[in-house]
Amino acid sequence: MKVAIIGLGSVGSAVATAIKNTGLVHEMVLFDRDAVRSQAAAADLGHAAAFSFDVKITAANSYREIRGSEIVVIAAGANQKPGQTRTDLLSANANVIRDIIPRVMANTDPKTIKIIIVTNPLDVMVMLARDLSGLPSARVIGTGTMLDSARLRTILARALDVSPMSINAYVLGEHGDSSVVNWESACVGAIPLNDFCRTTKIPLSQTTRRTIEYRVHNAAYEIINGRGATWDGIGAAVNDLLRCIINDEKRILTVSTCAPKTNLAMSMPTIVGAAGAVRVLTPHLAPTESKALHASSRIIKKNYNNI
Ligand code: NAD
Repeated sequence: MKVAIIGLGSVGSAVATAIKNTGLVHEMVLFDRDAVRSQAAAADLGHAAAFSFDVKITAANSYREIRGSEIVVIAAGANQKPGQTRTDLLSANANVIRDIIPRVMANTDPKTIKIIIVTNPLDVMVMLARDLSGLPSARVIGTGTMLDSARLRTILARALDVSPMSINAYVLGEHGDSSVVNWESACVGAIPLNDFCRTTKIPLSQTTRRTIEYRVHNAAYEIINGRGATWDGIGAAVNDLLRCIINDEKRILTVSTCAPKTNLAMSMPTIVGAAGAVRVLTPHLAPTESKALHASSRIIKKNYNNI
């Protein structure tokens, strides 16, 4: 399996590191418009691979060298600076996607290629990449709220004193400030969250829930203020998504893909396997969550109309 990564800044490098450390693919090709940067990344990661798995890592000087890739990860573009929202990146990163997608399509097999979008604002970039590529929605997949859901699961796990692996809880909608925590369908193991709290006598009051939502929404801002950018969490998320596709795991992930009827991309629980994001599921939503999800979709649509 050959995978291409486009954009070798903080995020692309973290993605490449995560993939290298799991030996998920046998070949990775790295492209950045700054060729010096991608060459340095390929050299450094290539040396590191001698300590883990024998992954062939090369830098591409042109898009011709991504030929043979079955999955392309796009992590190129401007990132948020302290004080910026993801939406502030809209027009700059729309141009990055407009630059990259036609070149990717000219050098990969349109019948099989899967494109993973990481660039923000995520959902609008998924819609744009889908439009430009002409690929089926199932094969243009945004990491969506995978990372936000991981943040929620981690915070909940600490509050409930169980492993995050045993928490099934989703953040839905925009990968951005309007994302929605879906308390209504949250489970610990197979036990609905409210039942779990009742049985274990661990209270999770409305105030605590609002605080958790605030922490999930603000996680990226806090990390950006502290270390300039976020990369480890998203690196692990992309690796997890790739694993799910490459091994045809058919796990449920909160990825962002274009819905066939509305043509709008936002994160929903989705079955992901070798064919891509194959089935979008509708979880139980409280009336307030349903309303918030509609508001979130309207924000994505408005941003899409602005590019
Ligand atoms: P960065 O500035 O460190 O790196 C961006 C890289 O993209 C640079 O190396 C640059 O040369 C390259 N690039 C820009 N335009 C290009 C083009 N047209 N072709 C090829 N390469 C190009 O930024 P970063 O911190 O790595 O963030 C990258 C993107 O990932 C940002 O949009 C950021 O907001 C996003 N991000 C998404 C998530 C998520 O959960 N989806 C999480 C973190 C960051």
